[in-house]
Amino acid sequence: MPAVSGGVGEDKIAPAEGDALLLVDMQKDFLPGGALAVAGGDEIIPVLNCYLARFTALGLPMIATRDWHPADHCSFTAQGGPWPVHCVAGSPGAGFAEGLRLPASARIVSKATGSGQEAYSGFPGPTSTVTCATRASSACSSAGWPPITACLYR
Ligand SMILES: [Zn+2]
Repeated sequence: MPAVSGGVGEDKIAPAEGDALLLVDMQKDFLPGGALAVAGGDEIIPVLNCYLARFTALGLPMIATRDWHPADHCSFTAQGGPWPVHCVAGSPGAGFAEGLRLPASARIVSKATGSGQEAYSGFPGPTSTVTCATRASSACSSAGWPPITACLYR
């Protein structure tokens, strides 16, 4: 699947069988106004919505990861971690971005859900593109989707 470069033209979005869409932590706390904001992070929402529409129309797998921390998570400064409180499970900041049209068919992967557990990946384990893709493919299989061969990363 070709990457989107430049504008948001839908003609540049051509997912095919074997593709899966992986959205990483598109949560309010990581967007402008959030507790741990990435400047301009909301600018990709229209692009993501184009991808979501295309993947939905083709019945292709979509996975959305999210930080989903307990209030005493080890990554928070009060517990000696590096980050301010963010993405506490069920809080407004943990919600997916305003305007993100995430379909009900998308599989949501919550991570770092235990007080002492940090997770920067929705598919934790040894770090490599191959192992991440394998774990993502397993997540698709467990959701009843066909095997995937490619992921799009944020
Ligand atoms: Zn976090």
